Amino acid sequence: MSSGKPTPAPRSAAFPRSFGKPYPVAARGEGVYLYSSEGNRYLDFDGSAAVNFIGHGVREIADAMSAQAARLEFIHSSHFSSEIAETFARELLDFAGTGFPGGAVYFTSGGSEAVETALKLARQYQVEIGQPHRTRFLSRTQSYHGASFGAVGVSGNPRRRELYLPLVHDSEKVATPYCYRCVYACGSRPEDGCEACGAKYAAEVARALDARGNVRDSDLAAFIFEPVSGATLGAVAPPPGYLAEVMRLCRERGVLTIADEVMTGCGRTGRNFAVDHYAAQPDILVTAKGLASGYAPLGAVIASARVVDAISSGSGAFVHGLTYNAHPVAVAAGHAVQQRVKKDGLIARAAAGEKTTRAALDALRSLRSVGDVRGIGLLWAVEFVADKSSKAPFPAALGFAGRVADAAFRRGLLVYPMPGCVDGYAGDHLLLAPPAIITDKEITWAAGQLAAAIEEAEAVA
Ligand code: PMP
Repeated sequence: MSSGKPTPAPRSAAFPRSFGKPYPVAARGEGVYLYSSEGNRYLDFDGSAAVNFIGHGVREIADAMSAQAARLEFIHSSHFSSEIAETFARELLDFAGTGFPGGAVYFTSGGSEAVETALKLARQYQVEIGQPHRTRFLSRTQSYHGASFGAVGVSGNPRRRELYLPLVHDSEKVATPYCYRCVYACGSRPEDGCEACGAKYAAEVARALDARGNVRDSDLAAFIFEPVSGATLGAVAPPPGYLAEVMRLCRERGVLTIADEVMTGCGRTGRNFAVDHYAAQPDILVTAKGLASGYAPLGAVIASARVVDAISSGSGAFVHGLTYNAHPVAVAAGHAVQQRVKKDGLIARAAAGEKTTRAALDALRSLRSVGDVRGIGLLWAVEFVADKSSKAPFPAALGFAGRVADAAFRRGLLVYPMPGCVDGYAGDHLLLAPPAIITDKEITWAAGQLAAAIEEAEAVA
């Protein structure tokens, strides 16, 4: 006998991101578009979470991966290195710029693993140079460094860490400069170009460093930061002078610097790495997403000579290991992607795309809920507010950014919604990070659809 209740849809056997919404099945990708199995087309305006940089469905990448898999699919790092890892590591050291000659690259299977590797590398470096008391990390509020426990400990994204906090080694935190909601009240278009508040935020770092001791007895091993905030705050660039000064403060106190460029690296901001915009030279660069543009899971820790030398001329081995360290097929994908980036001048295209994107997204400011539009290269965010003059956010329970993203999705536009930019819980923004091959016409179309999606969400807010 029927109970009268509708039969629930069978649950997916592939663990979904959320049990609260259905996910269509993607069938193929081509250029800036993804197609569902039902034949719907979506413009990938967030680059599938700031991963895709070269466009979808590029045949030569699949060919390079297939050739590598046919020749040598896997070796274990306890037995061999591989030609492709040697070649790509050398190229990446050059790509990373003047801070990295003589350094070394540790390949991982993604961002969290790369962050984890960098944290352990920093810890071991300190032990090797005779500073074994340096057991802690300094990081920033409203940051995201990954899903593994070490990365959760240094992350400052409250919603993603509160469940696990009792289980992790928590880091010391300093504030992330956030111009739109600057605690030093500079406003979002300050006359001094934010230099004054940049110095104030850097002074906060100096105080946090000094509170942990001096160059001989500090317990800090490293400072980890996103040079331009990624998903958590949404494309927030640092004030002028801030990063270079923070690097100097850390160096002076024997604290290594780790730039987490999982999202911002490999051209996303219009330079090889985001730190290049700010004359900031970290000791360790961490990158992933755009490195292989999603064609394979790949991350990299690019370590400077000083760090690597301490281990090679010290104990002689990094106490760390990953079965899939430098997986040949993933590394071949990354190598082919970076060749494509170079051949097609995609980093210059990302830099040039900044102007069109700014103009297209600035037009959204006239909408009632758009409080801020910010970005660099092809990494952008639109922040929503319930009231523009007070910058008051929407109630978190409304899920405003999610509503905009759902409306955009129904219009064939992919964007990345995030809650919590105000205090970790309240606040709504969208992250936008299209592939660098996007045309001006496609950017204009996307902004138009986004405006309509925002108006749809406003109608029920
Ligand atoms: N660091 C940053 C800055 C990130 O944006 C991310 C992913 N969003 C990570 C680390 C973790 O990378 P993954 O998801 O590949 O493990």
